[in-house]
Amino acid sequence: MSILVTGGLGYIGSHTVVELIKNNFEVIIVDDLSNSEKFILNNIEEITGKRPIFYPFDLRRKELLTQVFEAHDIKGCINFAASKAVGESMVEPLDYYENNLFSLVNVLQEFRKRNISNFIFSSSCTVYGQADEMPIDENTPLKEAESSYGKTKQMGEDILKDFSRAYQKRVTLLRYFNPIGAHPTALLGELPSGIPNNLVPYVTQTAAGIREKLSIWGDDYPTEDGTAVRDYIYVVDLAKAHVAALKKLINSEEETVLDVYNLGTGKGSSVLEVVKAFELANDVAVPYQICPRREGDITVAYANADKAEKELGWKSETTLEEALKTTWEWQKYLKERTN
Ligand code: UDP
Repeated sequence: MSILVTGGLGYIGSHTVVELIKNNFEVIIVDDLSNSEKFILNNIEEITGKRPIFYPFDLRRKELLTQVFEAHDIKGCINFAASKAVGESMVEPLDYYENNLFSLVNVLQEFRKRNISNFIFSSSCTVYGQADEMPIDENTPLKEAESSYGKTKQMGEDILKDFSRAYQKRVTLLRYFNPIGAHPTALLGELPSGIPNNLVPYVTQTAAGIREKLSIWGDDYPTEDGTAVRDYIYVVDLAKAHVAALKKLINSEEETVLDVYNLGTGKGSSVLEVVKAFELANDVAVPYQICPRREGDITVAYANADKAEKELGWKSETTLEEALKTTWEWQKYLKERTN
């Protein structure tokens, strides 16, 4: 069965492609390489023994997208393609709305025209904002997102709700908490461009000596050690959830489905706990300094992921330490590649 994976060479996309191939899906990737690299395709082939079909273009190019749908009997889509830098989205919001939403609508138009169902959307826990109660389950009220990036995720969800309702389609919205880690082969991982914004890539680059010191954004939060708390989910576990969600959609007897799942571990870890776990897992020092809070950051977010366990038979299996080990191996691989 052929599945379109947009953004399939990106961080979560590439890990998901591997899991799809392992589950005997035929994968067709469309990725414009704006935040990914071509060697990832070779590495997917090295891991799975199969080279996915790959089209390098921007999904806003409707005519090229139509050609892909004409060439393949596509039965579903997992949509990862999107710009994801929160800070940049505040400076160039229009670019974010155009890239993230136009490309989504273009794929959905093909689905509508050809009467295809089974669509999985990469959403984010950012749609909840600072929730009033922890843990966050799927019924936690959504709040206005802090960033234009977050708004593209909320709007994407709204578009998909309408798409599912109006055209009787099967749709799943997956709300990720904080994805971390790399493939156990060290052949896939996160490729932050420039100075990383996210915690784990910054910690990793600091340990590698690429960055001098980690800045911890705030130690005066009302948490146990004063640093902010997030739910860090291992990327391979996350990838497996996509396959489980896709299988559920495909096997569904309903014509119209709108499922929503939180994907997290259910456990919150503070910034300092992540730093300590990284040091312990990899026997390496991470120099840090405490800095003022980062604008727009929330205090605490962790998931109640029981619904995914109950309905998808999925749960996170990998510990924080194990995930952080894979990140370090990936960093070593990247270093060797550039030497
Ligand atoms: N963080 C930090 N230093 C950094 C990057 C992140 O202290 O260099 C903190 C950030 O303030 C937040 C947590 O790490 O509390 C996770 O941040 P990240 O950007 O990875 O994900 P977010 O949850 O903000 O999407």
